[in-house]
Order: sequence, then C-alpha cells, then structure tokens
Amino acid sequence: MAKHQFQTEVGQLLHLMTHSLYSNKEIFIRELVSNASDAIDKLNYLKLTDDNMKAKLPENWTGEINIAFDETDKSLTIVDNGIGMNEADLIASIGTIAKSGTKSFVEALTGDAKKDSNLIGQFGVGFYSVYMVADKVDVISKKAGEEQAYKWSSDGTGEFEIIPVTKETNGTVIYIKLKDEEVEEFASQYRIKNIIGKYSNHIAYPIYLNYSEEVTEELSEEEKKEGKEPKKTTERRHEKINEATALWTQPKSKVKDEEYNDFYKSISHDSQDPLAVIHTKAEGVSEYTTLFYIPKTAPMDMYRADYQPGVKLYVKRVFITDNDKELLPTYLRFVRGIIDSEDLPLNVSREILQENRILANIKQSSVKKILSEIKKLSKDEEKYKEFIAQYNRPLKEGAYQDFTNKDKILELIRFKSSKTENDEMTSLEKYIENADSEQKAIYYIIGENEKVLRNSPLLESYKKNEIEVLILDDKEIDEIVTPMYGAYKEWEFKDITSCEAPKVEQTEEEKKEVEEKFESITKKIKDILGEAVKDVKVTNRLSESPSCVVKDAGDAQMAQMMQMMRAMG
Ligand code: ADP
Ligand code: MG
Repeated sequence: MAKHQFQTEVGQLLHLMTHSLYSNKEIFIRELVSNASDAIDKLNYLKLTDDNMKAKLPENWTGEINIAFDETDKSLTIVDNGIGMNEADLIASIGTIAKSGTKSFVEALTGDAKKDSNLIGQFGVGFYSVYMVADKVDVISKKAGEEQAYKWSSDGTGEFEIIPVTKETNGTVIYIKLKDEEVEEFASQYRIKNIIGKYSNHIAYPIYLNYSEEVTEELSEEEKKEGKEPKKTTERRHEKINEATALWTQPKSKVKDEEYNDFYKSISHDSQDPLAVIHTKAEGVSEYTTLFYIPKTAPMDMYRADYQPGVKLYVKRVFITDNDKELLPTYLRFVRGIIDSEDLPLNVSREILQENRILANIKQSSVKKILSEIKKLSKDEEKYKEFIAQYNRPLKEGAYQDFTNKDKILELIRFKSSKTENDEMTSLEKYIENADSEQKAIYYIIGENEKVLRNSPLLESYKKNEIEVLILDDKEIDEIVTPMYGAYKEWEFKDITSCEAPKVEQTEEEKKEVEEKFESITKKIKDILGEAVKDVKVTNRLSESPSCVVKDAGDAQMAQMMQMMRAMG
C-alpha cells in the first residue's frame, strides 16, 4: 500500500471544497462526466491515429458513460471506458494541480467563503469538486493498452493511497461514498437526470443511468375482485439520459437559446450565461462548423502566458485537441467554443496542425465572424459596456497584432477622451465625426492616472482649440500598442507629448525670435536640472501653464514591451 501526500495547493482546495463551498454542489456531476467524456475523446483519437492501440481495443469499442446509484450503500458511481490512468497518471492528475487555471484559482482565493464560492463558479476545479458531497472516493482505473489496474482512494484530507487491483476493461470507475446528508439528494434518478439534462445533455457519448426500481404489478379487474395482492418486484433499469448529439451539428433554427447556454456552461465551467453566441456552418470549398462563445466575465488566466486555450478542435465530430493556441489569434483567447472540420484528415497529427492551410482558412474566417459579431454587439450600448469592461485590452492587442483586421478592431475599441465624462467612452468613429474638417490626426496622451492626464498642461491648447484628445490610462498596454497603430482610416495617431501642437500660427522667424528671447532662461533651467533632463525647450503647446515635462518621441520602453509580449503569449 502506497500512501501519498496531496500537493499543498490541492490540500487548500480540498479544504475549501469540504468547508466553504456549499452552493451549487451539483456541478460535481458535470465535472466528473466531463472528465469521462475527455477520457473517451482521448481514446477515440488514439484509436484513429495509433494502429497499435486500435489492435488492443475490442473491434466494436465505442465510448459510453454509465452512472449508477445505490441508496442503501449511500453511493454514486460514474464509469467510463476511456483512456484510463496508470499509477503515475493517478499521482500526477489527481494529487497535484497541473493546470494553470486551477493554480490561479487557488491563488485568487480570498478565504472569504462567500466570495470564494462565487469564484468556483467561474472556474472548473474539476475532479476535486466531488469532495463537496463525498466522504470518500475511490478511483479505479486501467489504462488502455496496459495490464495493471490501480485503485486510488482518499477521504479528501491530506493524503491518498494507491493499490494495484484487477479490472477487466480499460477506463475509469469513480466510486463516491456520499455524505449522509447528501444521499437523499444525489442518490436519486430524478436529480441525476435533471443535472445531466442541464449540463451534459450534449456530451457526444451516451450516458446511461443504471438503477433499481420497485415495480408494482398491474392487476386486472377480475384479479382485483378475487382479492389478489399485487406482486412487488425490483427491476433493473439501464436508461439513456442524454441526447448524445454534439450540439453544434444541429441546425441553428432548431437550437434554443437555453441549449446554447447550457452547452456553453458544460464546456467552459462558467456558471453565467455567455455574452454572445456565434454559430456558423460553412459549406462549399471548405466545410466546417464553428460554435463560439464570448464569456460575460473574462477567463481568469487571460493575462497569464500559460493561459488555457478555450477552443477545441474536432474533425468530423472526433475530438482532436483542446490545447492548440493557434486555432484563434492570441488576442481572441477569451473566446470559448469548438471548431469541427469536415476536410482535415482524421489522423491529423497535432504537430502538423500549425502549417495546415485548411485550418488557416478556418481561422481567418472565424476571426472575421467574431469581429463582426462584436460589432453587432456594439449596437447595444448596455451590453457593449459590459464587453468593453472585460475585453478592451485584448482588442488593443489585436489592433497591434492583426494587421489585416486593424481598422476593424480599432473601430471596436473604446477610449476615454478629453471630451468624455465619468465612465463614458468614445469610439474612433465618433472621434472623427466630432472633429472639424481641418483635423486629420487622432491625438492621444498616455499615462497611469486618468486624473493627472486630464489635468495635464499639454491638453490646454487642444482644449482651447476644441480638439479632442484620447486619454489612455491603461499605460502598461497603451504605451506599447498605440504608437504602433500608425493610422485609422488615414487618420494618423499622434502623441501630444511629442507632436507639434495643432493650429498654432507661427512662422519660422517668429519661432526663432521667441527662442532667442528665452534663451538665457532655458539655459539656466538646463544647468539646474543637469542630467535629469535631456533638453529644455521653448514651446508653443502651452496656453496657461508656464512649463511641462514631456518625453522624447520614439522612446521605446523595451523592458515593458517584452513583459507585455510575454503576457500576450
Ligand atoms: P481537467 O479535466 O480540467 O484537466 P480535472 O481536475 O477534472 O481537471 O481532472 C484532472 C485530470 O485527471 C484530467 O486532466 C485527467 O488527466 C485525469 N482524469 C480525471 N478523470 C479522468 C477519467 N475519468 N479518465 C481518465 N483521466 C481522468
Ligand atoms: Mg475536468
């Protein structure tokens, strides 16, 4: 018998599961079924790509999930015939936290039970959620293609043990000993059917519920007259309880909003409805289906270099990968959903996906589709506010990364400006609309603090001339991307800290005259400030303040840039 300690973060998570998270317990079924489905996906893929594995599987192997419960035993069991886990897999997968998402979840925990249980909704904490309802869990698993099976057991406090066992077939059995107070709720056919219907209806494999039911014999009128007692028997049921059709294969007109939303929740682990759904079927030269979602709340790992990509790739309904960051451009990494191609070869290796033309094509059209959907969203002011609060930043990255779609993306970004108030924001379209006919540039100023920027002496002459200046206070990113935008519809972007002020009528001679007049004072200031400044100059940019500090045009902030690039993945 081998005892193992849980990794510290797992311990923390488990503690939280058992002590603080009481709301929404039902999600543990969703998580375990989703793991079962993933495990079948993996084996399906191997069966298609690995002849060796194919030879080891029964000819007619197809994936299925079985759920059973037993009130007297106080247990619930979830069985799959997927890839399975060997001893090393068990230790690595359920004993440590390998996933970046879960790590950031643990890091984000506040210790405040209420806040934390809201957090869990935004997060798939996966397998460990079972400890919300379990006293003890056994995971009995045999890896496909291997001989030895193992049993992992833990009561969810501190340690787990693993012993070798015998098991006929490949796959995993999750045997859950329910806490006394959870038996009534979860050892119930109605409750399980209801939960599966809600979260796992469109899992691509059949889910069967197995249970015993007391059946009372129907007596005929005659028998009743004779005073015969009806016989009571117990019958075993084996009932399919999900649709088992991939939702995205259904025609758009047939899918209800609620089904779209439920499917979103099942793939994203989010507990909220999505902000937008984008379902597309492409036919013709290239045939594929995409179903994309924009989450209401940005994924927690959006600004981590090791973020988990949100789009899964399928070929003819067969799962290929959920770990390809190239399926969409990085700035759209918040998008969740699936791509299902009819044209890619089924045995496409994950490595060659990168250079695949078919996929490049799907990617390009998907980006167009998503951007135009965001544009549609922008017509609804309230909804778009929500969107911008979450995704203005990735859009800014996009305007910088995606040259082909630059103007389209710039149009979607929202900006604070010298002419907006409170949390109102403007768009470049509006900016141009509001500018007078002589203006041909988009002026901006970048800094950390909105208030400081709004009071900058540099704005004075613009205000006087009623020229709008964009206030960019998300310095970390604005400073990197804005100077690279170049232009929007031929309107050049200009940083007011380094460009000439507009509309100042002054000849070269007049300029010289002023400079000479102030020569001795600028020299004096330069002497006093010494190394601290690069130069001291006379300027026509100020109208009320006597002086201001500006930075040199083109001062690239290399270190910060590198940091940002890393964050963008
Ligand atoms: P996630 O599914 O997001 O990776 P989980 O906590 O749900 O996180 O599961 C952790 C890991 O445990 C999975 O990635 C998988 O490797 C393994 N695992 C869990 N359940 C199963 C299962 N039924 N069959 C095979 N592997 C499983
Ligand atoms: Mg999981």
